[in-house]
Amino acid sequence: MARQLLGKEVTAVLNTKIKENVALVKAKGISPTLGIVRLGEKKNDLSYERGAIKCCEALGVACEKYLLPVDVTQEKLLKVIHQINHNDKIHGVLIFRPLPKHLDEAAVIHALALEKDVDGITNGSLVGVFTGIKQGFAPCTSQACMEILDHYGIHCMGKKAVVVGRSLVVGKPVAMMLLEKNATVTICHTRTEHMPSVVKEADIVIAAVGRAGLIDDRYVSPGQTVIDVGINVNQKGKLCGDVAYEKVHSVVEAITPVPGAVGIVTTSVLVSHVVEAAMRQYSI
Ligand code: NAP
Repeated sequence: MARQLLGKEVTAVLNTKIKENVALVKAKGISPTLGIVRLGEKKNDLSYERGAIKCCEALGVACEKYLLPVDVTQEKLLKVIHQINHNDKIHGVLIFRPLPKHLDEAAVIHALALEKDVDGITNGSLVGVFTGIKQGFAPCTSQACMEILDHYGIHCMGKKAVVVGRSLVVGKPVAMMLLEKNATVTICHTRTEHMPSVVKEADIVIAAVGRAGLIDDRYVSPGQTVIDVGINVNQKGKLCGDVAYEKVHSVVEAITPVPGAVGIVTTSVLVSHVVEAAMRQYSI
């Protein structure tokens, strides 16, 4: 039976460091603050927002909500982003996406100030991840995967890592972060041939697919570490990952449960980025 890699064990350490940094920032008379931009009332957005606010409150970080109707115009939304960019009291921004179809999402992302991009969505942040230059912030979920590996002492150097999924939110950035740690990285996607045998070869598997239980026992082998990024709802209405946990945990060496791992670490990483953004903005 696999070792469970638990988010709460990772966040216990992360949160201690965040609290220390919050104290440093507050000692300068600054209250680290996350700006949340949400359009409409999507269930998933509301659920993530609740978790983020709870985590912020527990760690001494304030939140300021910018709630807009789902039919907001591009002009109005850009105006809000510009206001936030120029508001010294907001240090980091979370914009819920995807935006409704009538909006130009790329233009909205482009409008966000790099120094406040705590969710790693701007091109500037992605340049940081892809080149190794220290600018912006890594996408929180990708960093959460790396924090879990790091916390449990799972070394990437020289190891074969397979990332399933190539989105800019998770798959591609986490692949770059694994490469930065000297793993040999393969990225799988819908056109990958013989995917089970490709995934089986890995030492580290990151599943970021968005398909409930896709990675089952045909894809895994003994000795592997499996990080499940997926957040799906199965046919019984239960939250589940991209990995068929019940079929996989008896084969592999270590695995993250869903819920209870990547999701909660992602939230802590987001809060850590807000505090770090405040520290960078005030050279603390
Ligand atoms: P996405 O944008 O839909 O990308 C999914 C990726 O998976 C695509 O690259 C797609 O390949 C690939 N894919 C889909 N079906 C596949 C299949 N049958 N075989 C091989 N590859 C397949 O999703 P995402 O935003 O990256 O999110 C992935 C999952 O992570 C979702 O479950 C999402 O809810 C979850 N997530 C969790 C967190 C968290 O904090 N825990 C944060 C973000 C996302 P193509 O490129 O070829 O289409």
